Amino acid sequence: MMRKSIKGRAAPEDLPAALHRLETLCRERGQRLTRQRRAVVRQLLAADRALSAYELLERLRPEDGRATAASIYRTLDFLMELGVVHRLESKRSFILCRHPQAPHRVQFLICRSCGEVIEAEDARLAAATERLGDRLGFALDQRIVELTGLCGRCRTREAGPS
Ligand SMILES: [Zn+2]
Ligand SMILES: [Zn+2]
Repeated sequence: MMRKSIKGRAAPEDLPAALHRLETLCRERGQRLTRQRRAVVRQLLAADRALSAYELLERLRPEDGRATAASIYRTLDFLMELGVVHRLESKRSFILCRHPQAPHRVQFLICRSCGEVIEAEDARLAAATERLGDRLGFALDQRIVELTGLCGRCRTREAGPS
């Protein structure tokens, strides 16, 4: 399959597909797809934006009275390990991975107005970060690049009524 070097927003996966994939990943690791793991993925997919652990907790509480911030963080750690969820450091929040088929070095473009997050995968940028680390003697352990600005829609809106 051809892979373009730059990917933008991928079509959102539907819930059954996302859960099926997650179930397979869990099984491969001898792990269970617990109710909370399932619920966190469902909420992130439904929100279609990044959510903080506390926002997730708020959304999970009605269906799972035993959910706590600590349990949500454990679930998120697990989902990040599986590569299903990414952490946005600058927003202290979490987002569902848009193209989790393979390990990838991603960049996030985050709109500071509407909060839209686009996950992109630019191989050249990833290689450049790696080289930068090498050049400065850094062994990188966090390679996600977060860029903020205004998304296309918000730029049009700010430009005035059309
Ligand atoms: Zn991803
Ligand atoms: Zn925007």
